[in-house]
Amino acid sequence: MTETPFKALLLRQDDQGKTQAAIESLTLADLPAEEVLVRVEYSSLNYKDGLAITGTGKIVLQWPMVPGIDLAGTVVEGGNSQYRPGDRVVLTGWSVGEKYWGGYSQLQRVRPEWLVPLPEGLSTAQAMAVGTAGLTAMLCVMALEDGGVTPDQGPVAVSGAAGGVGSVAVALLAGRGYQVAAISGRESTHDYLRELGAGQILTRDAMAARARPLEKSRWAGAIDTTGGEILARLLAETHYGGTVAACGLAADYKLPTTVMPFILRNVRLQGVDSVMCPLQRRTQAWQRIATELPANLLNAINQVASLEQLPELAAAIVAGQVRGRVVIDLQRN
Ligand code: NDP
Repeated sequence: MTETPFKALLLRQDDQGKTQAAIESLTLADLPAEEVLVRVEYSSLNYKDGLAITGTGKIVLQWPMVPGIDLAGTVVEGGNSQYRPGDRVVLTGWSVGEKYWGGYSQLQRVRPEWLVPLPEGLSTAQAMAVGTAGLTAMLCVMALEDGGVTPDQGPVAVSGAAGGVGSVAVALLAGRGYQVAAISGRESTHDYLRELGAGQILTRDAMAARARPLEKSRWAGAIDTTGGEILARLLAETHYGGTVAACGLAADYKLPTTVMPFILRNVRLQGVDSVMCPLQRRTQAWQRIATELPANLLNAINQVASLEQLPELAAAIVAGQVRGRVVIDLQRN
């Protein structure tokens, strides 16, 4: 097995500092010296992967890099860890695909502390239909619950709703009985968002218009994947005592807001990070995903692609043209 070649997508930097992506043939000797060898069945495409592959953002911290910030598969060798051959595992975050080699490889060596045992009832393909984006969506829902937001308090808004995080957030919230207002910049996504459970759809342009320090209060809470003017407006429109969970920057890393929503409406702005999220909370989030996300919606959310399609899809996700989640089938030829 040591000599048997397998495929991986590698990113290298050329003389001009440009990122070049190519599928290469590797052997086990090429992999990092981490403890657990995983046969990767599926990975996925996240916004961050798009930035890494296209070289748009400074995501890659080591060269060459196998990108792919998440993976799901079966343990081949567990070393001295608690994992045994045949165990099904999922990995997201921990700077994998940025600093450490990631999921776009048919085999990968990883640290045991990065892994979560796949919950019962979730296949490796489904785990990657959820992926980092879906885990982040669940962590955002948990942040709203921690803030005391309940379905009877009024609608919850989700920005970047047709993207990966947004799609799963809409489905999870609707499944828990919240009225969901989806904010999307693409008219072509409206039927899809309704299918996921959105009761109301708002245009990105309307929500990106500069907000006054306080606007008419409309939302019991919100999940924001965009930052910038949309996040500022969501804060200005949130009910007294509501919570806004902020996890993304698809529009802007800046936040042009004032202290008014915080000091006059007791609004809570809760940051959400999935990368360094402690193991206990991420295990809890995966358990909830396995039981709360309907399988039919998972199928509606994702499309399956091959390693070869990644460069094209990476450009599309950076351009905001991907709907839902893209699952990468590593074993497909
Ligand atoms: P996607 O590209 O799948 O979705 C982003 C969505 O945002 C798009 O589909 C689009 O939705 C909307 N959008 C795109 N460009 C703009 C813009 N200029 N202004 C307003 N809205 C825009 O990405 P993901 O869902 O994977 O990630 C979303 C964000 O969350 C990213 O910024 C990502 O970096 C971040 N993220 C953070 C994590 C964390 O741990 N904190 C983990 C995962 C992601 P529509 O067409 O419906 O408007």
